[in-house]
Parts: sequence; C-alpha cells; structure tokens
Amino acid sequence: MIEKSLNIELPVSEDFRVQKNRFLPVNLDIDEVIEEKVKRISIVSGTHGDELEGQYVCYLLSDWLNNNKDKINGIIDIYPALNSLGIDSITRSIPFYNVDLNRIFPGKKNDFLPSQIAEGIIEEISGSDFAIDIHSSNIFLRELPQVRMSAEFKDSLLPLAKKMGIDFVWIHDAITVLEATFAHTMNSRGTKTLVVEMGVGMRITPEYCFSLVEGLKNLMAYLGILNIPVVNLKEPVISENGEVFYLNAGNSGLFVPTTAHYEIVKHGDKIGNIVSPLSGKIEEEVFSPANGVLFTLREYPIVYEGSLLARIFAFYEDHK
Ligand SMILES: [Zn+2]
Repeated sequence: MIEKSLNIELPVSEDFRVQKNRFLPVNLDIDEVIEEKVKRISIVSGTHGDELEGQYVCYLLSDWLNNNKDKINGIIDIYPALNSLGIDSITRSIPFYNVDLNRIFPGKKNDFLPSQIAEGIIEEISGSDFAIDIHSSNIFLRELPQVRMSAEFKDSLLPLAKKMGIDFVWIHDAITVLEATFAHTMNSRGTKTLVVEMGVGMRITPEYCFSLVEGLKNLMAYLGILNIPVVNLKEPVISENGEVFYLNAGNSGLFVPTTAHYEIVKHGDKIGNIVSPLSGKIEEEVFSPANGVLFTLREYPIVYEGSLLARIFAFYEDHK
C-alpha cells in the first residue's frame, strides 16, 4: 500500500513529499496489527540523492513482498527516497539549501526546510522496532557491502548484522560517530537501526543488491517479521578483529588502480598509480601498507593530495 507519509509545503504551491510502501500481515488491518503488537521494521534509503543502490534494493524487496504476501508477519515500511528532492535532481544534499540531510537529525519543526524534513522523518519512523538505512558511498569510492555501527550500540546491533550475510561490519568508536545522523538519532530513541554502505554513488551494482535483499529477508525471518526459514548466510568480518588502513594520495593526478576491488593484498603489493596526463609521467606508485582486504577503492580517478584512494582491512594476526 503506497502512502504519502510526510508532506511539507514549499514556498510556491509545491509540496515536499516522502512516500512509503507499507506491507502488513494479510488478513489484519492496521488497528488489529497495532493491537496484536506485531513488530515493525522501516527500510529507508535515498538520504543522499546521488546514492542509488538502495533504490534497486527497495524495488527488489517490494517485488518479492508483493509476490509473497502470505509470508508477512509484521509491518514492513519501505521508504526509497527520504531526500526525494535530491533523488529527483541527482543532488547529494537537499537542493537549494546545500545541506546534507544526514547531518541535521533530529531536526526541528519551526526551522528551515531541511530541519523540518529531518524532524518529519524521525516523527514518521519513530515507534519502529528496527530500521535499516541503506547508503551507497558517494561517486568517488566503491565500497564492499558493509554494516557500520557505533560501539555504543554494538551489543544490540551486532547480532542483527550477523544475520544479513554482509561482508564486513565496521564498528566505530565513540569519537568518530556523528550524532546528527538518522541512525544515531533512531538508536538513541530505541529503534535498533543498522546503516548499510555498499557500492558506489550514481550507479547500481546488481549482485550487491540481490545479496542485500536476501540478507534483509533473513534478518526479517530471524526477527519474526517474515515467516520463512532462517538460513546460515556468510559471517561478516568484524573490524574489531583487525585494523583499517587508509591510503591517501600524496600527489595530484589521475589515479589508475592496478588491483581490483575486494582483492586480498599483501604488504607491499601495488594498488595503483597516480599519473600526470600532462607530463606523461607516473607521479606516485601506491602500495599496500599491510596484508588485508581492499574493501574500499577509489572509483572517480581525479585525485588531489590527501584524497582517499583505498582502505584495507587487515586481521591482527596477519599484519603483526
Ligand atoms: Zn549516504
């Protein structure tokens, strides 16, 4: 059932809208669902208008649910485009305001439009038992499918992430956690919220999307929201068991990788070159600082000094 869930009037006879597709257990209307206290999960995406992997995930999941209504045991709300203006105009932030929606939660009612949007989203999704916030990096970096969480909420979130067949779980310590994100606000208010990062901006990576949909179905089976068997999907690698290395450019130029994304690399292996289109020279050779997995790799070739080129995850026993 497609519903308008948030509507804010814009200055000149237009509306800002967020829409959701709500799936309920068959044979129960919403009053009965509330009375029986069934679990509710909200799956959101499109906070950043240039991230499209989540759009395909929402389609695939809704398509499966449309064809398997008898398996639904809870409330499943799917919001493909929280920043609907951004999605429609290929803009990462909220257009005109140039504000990153994921940096202004929880927002306020009597504030400028981006803050009103944030407040409306939190109001709408509050009360969900669980939420999944799907991101796809940006146009610059390609990411292996991963769940990110703050150490503060690890005890409640890690068991859920392990059901999702995801490759990597990155637990951030308290200092690096941004409190103005959707996930932090929701987790602080009791909705267990997982952030998924995968793929690259402005593109879809079908195999990642298929895999995440299977993971989401398995998580919902585990939570009793879908009446399908829980299966053993692959266990994620967890960042606590190793160290994340950042590779940054020392020079400006064109970064040309020589290693594929998600390859296992050894200390000293070549990752790529930074070349100069003008001089025809290699400005910098980039090598791996550790034995590990290349889980982030630069997709957009132009780099400046300091640009992030890659991230490598190394298990402690491998690089000591
Ligand atoms: Zn994002």
